[in-house]
Amino acid sequence: MSAKIISGTETAKAIREELKVEVAELKEKHDVVPGLVTILVGEDPASQSYVAAKNKTAHALGIHSEQVTLDVDTSEEDLLALVKKYNDDAQINGILVQLPLPKHINEGKVLDAIDPTKDVDGFHPVNVGKMVLGEQCFLPCTPHGILELLTRAGVETSGAEVVIVGRSNIVGKPIANLMLQKRDAGNATITLCHTRTKDMTAHLKRADIIIAAVGVANMITADQVKDGVVVIDVGVNRVGVSKTGKAILAGDVDFDAVKEKAAAITPVPGGVGPMTITMLMKNTVQAARQANGL
Ligand code: NAP
Repeated sequence: MSAKIISGTETAKAIREELKVEVAELKEKHDVVPGLVTILVGEDPASQSYVAAKNKTAHALGIHSEQVTLDVDTSEEDLLALVKKYNDDAQINGILVQLPLPKHINEGKVLDAIDPTKDVDGFHPVNVGKMVLGEQCFLPCTPHGILELLTRAGVETSGAEVVIVGRSNIVGKPIANLMLQKRDAGNATITLCHTRTKDMTAHLKRADIIIAAVGVANMITADQVKDGVVVIDVGVNRVGVSKTGKAILAGDVDFDAVKEKAAAITPVPGGVGPMTITMLMKNTVQAARQANGL
């Protein structure tokens, strides 16, 4: 059996088309243009390319986007003042501070300073708390994207044994919380694995759905999974450089071997990655609606 490929590229494209229509309608019917600001501190090349991609996508959807790039030596005080300025700016509905920040800046303090109603990354403690309680909030973009992939691929999660590997605040913990909620793509039985987990293979082998968010290339192998499993591979690992100088990427799952046993699997690249930016756009449109009472 060769797995159905769950394409994040195609799913993201479909959601972006829907968003484009929604943004055009907001403008036409309500004179509302959603606004997003991205704030980057320093010159980390990966962060620069993520921020550029976010602004390009926003622009393509008709979302007003501003990009602020600050010197790597910017003080925490100056960054906090900038966040406050955008908190008070009615044209801006979403504020994204690109992580990681330089070591001299307290990330938690900066994320806490973002107005929760503009926290389109879903990292503010108010939104995290609401997410855990199952209340309406901005969902963090990567887990939100995973939910959309599962829903649109028609994967049944209710009652499913879901094994998540990785317990980060941005992927593992939130997706675990979301999939146990009484909601679409929820109602699952969750096991959350990490470096202290004893016998991870035993957990993986009984999983109906595996979500890998580890950061170790090809770590999960075919002999660790059961036939018919659904695999969502969040990992993005650079494993080489092509002749043209482009990074060669691999996920956390041994794709070629596992796809022969799985019912469905996301590729890397072209799986979860394209969904993350798309869900940021969805959150920004949601923020604009809420700010305008729509
Ligand atoms: P992270 O903060 O580095 O956390 C990694 C998690 O994996 C930790 O909980 C760690 O356990 C666990 N882990 C590491 N090695 C392990 C092992 N050998 N066995 C079991 N568990 C192990 O990672 P992250 O930020 O969640 O990112 C994970 C991966 O997803 C990375 O490749 C990242 O680039 C990718 N990612 C992709 C997107 C996207 O949009 N596609 C978004 C976010 C992240 P401990 O807690 O015990 O240390």
